[in-house]
This record gives sequence, C-alpha cells and structure tokens, in this order.
Amino acid sequence: MKTIFSKLLTNFILTIVICLAIAGISLSFVIRNYISEQKENELVLKAQVIAQSTKHFFVKNENPHDYINTINHLDSNLGTEVWAVDENGIVIAAAAEHLNCEGSKLSSAELKEMQSGRLTVSNGYSEYFKDPVIRVTTPIIDKNKVIGAVIVYSPVKGIDEATRRLVFMMIFAAIISLSIALIFCIYTSKKIAKPVQKMAEASMEVADGNKFTHVPISTEFKEFNQLAGSFNHMLERIEQNEKRMKDFVGNVSHELKSPLTSIKGFIEALIDGKGKTAERTQKFLSIMDKEANRLIKLIDDLLILCKADSIVKVEPQKINIIKLIQEVITNFEVNAHQKLVSFKLDCASKLLYAKVEPHSLKQIMINLLDNAIKYSPENSQILVTVSPNSNEVEISITDRGPGIPEEDIPNIWDRFYRVDKARSRETGGTGLGLAIVKELIDKNGGEISVKSNIGKGTTFKFKLPIAV
Ligand code: ADP
Repeated sequence: MKTIFSKLLTNFILTIVICLAIAGISLSFVIRNYISEQKENELVLKAQVIAQSTKHFFVKNENPHDYINTINHLDSNLGTEVWAVDENGIVIAAAAEHLNCEGSKLSSAELKEMQSGRLTVSNGYSEYFKDPVIRVTTPIIDKNKVIGAVIVYSPVKGIDEATRRLVFMMIFAAIISLSIALIFCIYTSKKIAKPVQKMAEASMEVADGNKFTHVPISTEFKEFNQLAGSFNHMLERIEQNEKRMKDFVGNVSHELKSPLTSIKGFIEALIDGKGKTAERTQKFLSIMDKEANRLIKLIDDLLILCKADSIVKVEPQKINIIKLIQEVITNFEVNAHQKLVSFKLDCASKLLYAKVEPHSLKQIMINLLDNAIKYSPENSQILVTVSPNSNEVEISITDRGPGIPEEDIPNIWDRFYRVDKARSRETGGTGLGLAIVKELIDKNGGEISVKSNIGKGTTFKFKLPIAV
C-alpha cells in the first residue's frame, strides 16, 4: 500500500520531470530558431556587403582572389567562409585553407540558386565541408545579367553547441529540483502524516472502547484542523450518546422495576392469604391492574420513542391539519368529559394545509392534549388555536393547569423528567410524552416552545411549514 510520502514523492518527481522536459524541449527549439535566425541575418548582411564590394572586380573582369582571401583571413576565427564564383559557377576565390577547391564547379542546386538572380539562404549538409552549414548565395548582377556570385558559408556547429549547453543546464536544474523536492516531500509528508496518525490512534482507542482522546487542532493545515474539529465533535457526541444510553437504560430499568415490584408484592400478599377479605383482594387486584396499565403505557411510549429515534428523515406530506387536529380532539372527548374539561378549537377556516408527516402530528397532538387534560383543573377549558401566516402555521395548546416552574422548563423535554414525580405517577405519566413530542418536532424540522404561569396555566406552541 502506498504511503503519503511515496505518493507525494512520485507526484513531485513526475511533475518536475514533465515540466522540465516540456520547458527544455520548447526552450531548446525556441533558442535554436532564434540563434539560427540571428546567424542567418548576420550572414545575409555580410554577404550583401561583400558582394557589393566585390562587384567592381567582376565588372572589370579581374579576379577578386586576394580581396576574398583577406576577408577570409580576417574572419578565420569566426568559422565563416566566403567564396567568389564566376558566372558559370566556377570557384575563383576561396579561403586560404580551401584553395584546392578553386576551379571546381558549384553543385547544380547551388548553381540554380545563383542563376535565379536572387539572394538565397539555405540550410543543410554540405558534401564539401562534411558538416551541416548555412549557405547564403548573393548573385552579382550587372546590366541585368548574373556575372558572378559571393557565397558565404557558416557551420551550424555553434548553434548545436548552444543548444547542447541549454540541455545540460536543464538536466542540472532537474537534479537540483529533484533533490529539493525530496527534502520538501520528507518534510511535508511528515507534517501531513502526523495529524492523520494521531487521529487513527485516537479512533483505535475509541474503537477499543478505552477512552475518548481528543486530537489537537493546531496543525498548519486548515483542512486537518477542520477534520480534527469534526473528529473531536464526533467524539463528544459519541461520549454524550454513550452517557445518554447508560442513563436511559438505568431509567428504563428503574421505571420497569417499581410497578413490577409493586405487582409482585401484591401477588405475594394474595398467595399468602393473610387477612384476606374479598374487599382487600379486590383492592389489590385493582392496584395491580393500574400498575400493569402503567407498564403497558411505559412500553408503548418506549416503542414510540424508539421508532421516532430511528427515523432518519421523515417524509412530510400535504395534509389538512384542521381535520387531523379535530379527529384527535374528538378521540379525547370522553376522557376530557370524565374530568369535566372541555375543548375549544380556534381556527379561521376548516381547511388548512401544512407539510408534515401525519403520524408525527397525530402523536404530537395526542401527547400535548393528554398532558393538557391530565394537568387541567375540573371545569376548565383547553384552548387549541391554529393560526396561519404567510409561510407557516402556528399551533398552540393552552390549559388552565398548575403551570411549570421556570427552572424546570429547560428539562421537561428530557426523557423521564417529571416536575412532580408523585403526581405524574398518580396520573399514569411516564415522563416520556414531551421527549417524544420534541423528537418528532425536530424530525419534522419544526420548533416547539412553552410559556407557563404558575397557578394560571401552560401554553405549548409549535410551527409547521404551510403547504400551498
Ligand atoms: P408525563 O408523562 O409525566 O406527563 P411528559 O414528558 O409528558 O411526562 O411531561 C414531563 C413533565 O412536564 C411532566 O411530568 C409535568 O411535570 C410537566 N408537564 C407537561 N405538560 C404539562 C402541562 N400541560 N401542565 C403542567 N405541567 C406539565
């Protein structure tokens, strides 16, 4: 498997080699062309001047041999060479070291160039010099007739040499860059690998169930700091969840234990049969029935909570919430009547569509109305209002009950939290109702708030997005 170091190094080396190769090849082309062009321009100028100054020899039918020889002598260290040829292309003057070619004839290609009457520049291998050369042929024209020519030769060697040096320079630059890249790679990969390694170690510790070690968030890299931040946040969440889970299991066990202990106690008393009267038996059985109902309600609430917990994303539907709320109220009517409590539904229209998952809304209304009935005094009214605005609909449930003390309000959404434990038990409360409400409202993307006045009553309010 590749390490960060090897991956970085391969990428760096590849990038450097590719970049330098592209730069080297294009630069050597550009520089080679530039030097060639310069050289050609220089040779053209030289050839024109020499042709000009040699013309009178041809016009007077004199041999420019000595003159050409002097020029060649002066330029001998530059590597260029000047030849003069007569109208038939026979060499009549050359450099001192090539005197032997005097009297020889130009090749047919060269002769053609000369007889065209135009200055020509050609590049290529010379049979005579046994090397690639640049050749500038300048015909000497008198009375519209080619009476001779001056040919300047220059070897291409110098240009090749310059290009070769450039290539060497590029190779040298590549070696230096690769060495720097290696040092840089070692440094960077260590810097990158360290926080990753720390996170891997911390994850292993969490996975082994040992401890929740937070990783430092002060590396040089923003992304790693973000990752470390998220990682630490995740650890906190896992820690919280673990604690919540333990608390929850503890609470559930406790909640299950007390009715079961009570039932067991009564069963034992019944089996024992001491002081058994029909009236006592009846009383015991009715208490046991109440405790069994409490157990059933607790398990029902736990199941609802588990289901709400496991929903990742609810699928809101467009529903007529007035109809749904009215149905829930109707179902509670008997229960409310027994407690001499009445309902009032206050809404402008009988038709109001909102976006919500219907089972969630039904459960929310059941729990809030159940509490409102439980905590309402006799002969009081529970007011349910549904008020739409431009993009939301607000639903509120107000009772005239004892109210909730201010310091308890932040906790009422917690699982198994009860303000008055004895009263809650007596009324068959499980302490899970509002936790279910909160969970469902969160899952539906809503918000719930509560306002309470001690001795006057409580109002629960939540909002849903309106559906058009
Ligand atoms: P419970 O089953 O005990 O009613 P909930 O989760 O529904 O559990 O409510 C949590 C606590 O909040 C209750 O024990 C009660 O003390 C308080 N509470 C909830 N609704 C009301 C209300 N309408 N009026 C007064 N107190 C309330």
